[in-house]
Amino acid sequence: MHILVSACLLGVNCKYNHGNNENEEVKKLMKNHCLIPVCPEIMGGLPTPRVPSEIKGDKVVTETGKDVTKEFEAGARETLKIAKMYHCKRAILKEKSPSCGCGQIYDGTFSHTVIEGDGLTARLLKKNGITIQNEHEICGEKTE
Ligand code: SF4
Repeated sequence: MHILVSACLLGVNCKYNHGNNENEEVKKLMKNHCLIPVCPEIMGGLPTPRVPSEIKGDKVVTETGKDVTKEFEAGARETLKIAKMYHCKRAILKEKSPSCGCGQIYDGTFSHTVIEGDGLTARLLKKNGITIQNEHEICGEKTE
């Protein structure tokens, strides 16, 4: 089965600060699944490194006040394109991200305050019937 995965969870340096969120539990799934890495923010045309962004109402804005909603929407569409290409029914996405976050996101004040909600890519994938989990929800999953 092909599983879509936030590329930063596999150790790709696509995070806003040019770092990653490498996660050993996620990487273990490579033993018996084909993981398809995606980074919606890069695929939407944003650079690395970049100014961090949060969802504020119906927009996505950077910490310096720039509206990057179009780039986030484009990244979500590109991610869905790849999900369809590989017939992915499942995605493991980085928690709290304004793109990948599922269930919880930051509130748009850049104060590390978490609220209920999904990132733009998580929303679009869910709308298209793809099951989303964050990196903590797969803990203990059988990999052998
Ligand atoms: S957009 Fe998703 S894959 Fe890209 S750095 Fe952010 S959380 Fe990771």
